[in-house]
Amino acid sequence: MTDTGVVLTDIRKSFGSLEVIHGIDLTIAEGSFVVFVGPSGCGKSTLLRMIAGLEEVSDGEIEIKGRNVTDLDPSDRGIAMVFQSYALYPHMSVRDNLAFGLKMAHTQPAEIEARVKAASAILKIDPLLERRPGQLSGGQRQRVAIGRAIVRKPDVFLFDEPLSNLDAELRVSMRIEIARLHRELGNTMIYVTHDQTEAMTLADVIVVLRDGRIEQTGSPREIYENPANMFVAGFIGSPR
Ligand code: ADP
Ligand code: MG
Repeated sequence: MTDTGVVLTDIRKSFGSLEVIHGIDLTIAEGSFVVFVGPSGCGKSTLLRMIAGLEEVSDGEIEIKGRNVTDLDPSDRGIAMVFQSYALYPHMSVRDNLAFGLKMAHTQPAEIEARVKAASAILKIDPLLERRPGQLSGGQRQRVAIGRAIVRKPDVFLFDEPLSNLDAELRVSMRIEIARLHRELGNTMIYVTHDQTEAMTLADVIVVLRDGRIEQTGSPREIYENPANMFVAGFIGSPR
């Protein structure tokens, strides 16, 4: 056991008789921003969902902050996940959307209010608290979805292509917001994208996946300047 952020040991996943994740070993340092990148269908979401506990591993072990969480429910893992589709409750105000998970967990009302206030300030959504999701722009909705993760005070944030529904301009500004969030909160963040620019600008460490295997792990600079093979070079866009 280690007290490092997240440790994956020989993680495998099969759907029926088809194995799609073929034995992933990865150590993610506490507080780092790690980006899983790779083409559609390479297994990014499946890997993230196994870390979240939304998908069972077929084999292997997952450790978060020194704790073996492989068989724990998502709510017991100290994680919070932000999805591409914001999955907000349309009939609830922003405030209630933020508070909902905490209410379900029987958090005290005063504590809920304090956390909603803090998260709204970080994300600059305090003026929107009484609105419904239908009255928000795409970027504002994505902020609320991130806020819902923040209020839970997770050890680890998991993002699955959170910006892919936004237009190009908004994607850039939300990317900057997420980088700022990482600096301010200091949590471990694992971020899935198929967008090379997002990976290069956000990551401390990039994990390049292909067909359920890791092709290369390294800093954006290492991967750009020294791609392990033609696939990585082609995917990251470096001149090899
Ligand atoms: P990515 O997020 O990188 O696009 P996914 O993790 O969604 O890739 O998918 C990886 C592989 O696993 C793909 O071949 C996909 O078809 C398959 N897959 C994902 N989820 C399921 C499922 N619930 N049942 C069967 N196959 C699945
Ligand atoms: Mg995916």
